[in-house]
Amino acid sequence: MAKGPELRDPRTLYSQPPFSQQEQSEPGLAQDMKPLPDHGEESYKGSGRLEGRRALITGGDSGIGRAVAIAYAREGAEVCINYLPTEEPDADQVSTLLKDERRTLHRMPGDVSEEKVARKLVTDAADKMGGLDILVINAGKQVTQPDVTRISSEQFDQTMKVNVYAMFWMTQEALEIMPPGGSIINVTSIQGYRPSPQILDYATTKFAIRGFTEGLAPMALERGIRVNAVAPGPFWTALQPSHGQPMEKVEHFGEGAPMGRPGQPAEIASAFVYLASNEASYTVGEILAVTGGKPTS
Ligand code: NAD
Ligand code: MG
Repeated sequence: MAKGPELRDPRTLYSQPPFSQQEQSEPGLAQDMKPLPDHGEESYKGSGRLEGRRALITGGDSGIGRAVAIAYAREGAEVCINYLPTEEPDADQVSTLLKDERRTLHRMPGDVSEEKVARKLVTDAADKMGGLDILVINAGKQVTQPDVTRISSEQFDQTMKVNVYAMFWMTQEALEIMPPGGSIINVTSIQGYRPSPQILDYATTKFAIRGFTEGLAPMALERGIRVNAVAPGPFWTALQPSHGQPMEKVEHFGEGAPMGRPGQPAEIASAFVYLASNEASYTVGEILAVTGGKPTS
């Protein structure tokens, strides 16, 4: 009998808190985190589930987006990643990795909080790849403040722009060009169910993403396009030490999950593979929670 994958205890699979003190400026780089996140670089094995598909992933340089880019590419998809220009060092890493494996990855830096950029990103990606089958709207902004009175209008506005407006703009463009069978995947959060007071503006956007996903799904299905979302719990990504959490919380990040540790991006990528694949043909308007056991209700 062929030897299958090793049976592993999920509790001890990855580093557990406490982590060392670390602080980065926003948006942060995965390559400067201690310990380095696991995006599936060594572990993700594809099996042709997305062969021939054309995918655009925002925030694809690092964290959850990078893990999805690696998984999609190894499943056979052609992939475009978007990220902020300051994140080139992280984009370089994933691009080099996948190019060495002869996968096709296009780099498309740009700030999706600008309407023109967000809309053009979708049409440019479709032009580059000869069409668009999968859109993963994953870019996110999260900046902690100790009290609601400390959230500036500028911060509130920018968080809404990146997390909510960009989703709205990109969805409008995608619906015009995606063929039936296409898949749009949004990224909400456990924060879209159980908001933490220190990230109130962010949590508000994650509720909005959940509502938008559920409301849009039946309408998009009239075009044969499936819309779903993923709701991550605590994941070890650059979002957290770049002022996404109070610094003392970063050291204990993930401790509150029944798993006792944060998830690694590699542990959520297959949820995105599933939602994009033909196997999910009956899955619509679903919010798939991957939280290390943290309840969403
Ligand atoms: P990350 O920092 O690695 O990824 C977020 C990405 O958003 C950045 O890499 C950046 O490229 C992109 N981004 C931010 N502002 C942008 C802008 N103006 N224009 C273009 N791109 C921009 O962190 P992550 O945790 O992998 O985040 C991915 C998604 O997962 C986000 O939507 C986040 O809200 C969500 N999420 C994360 C967690 C967690 O614990 N890490 C939990 C729940 C939800
Ligand atoms: Mg990044």
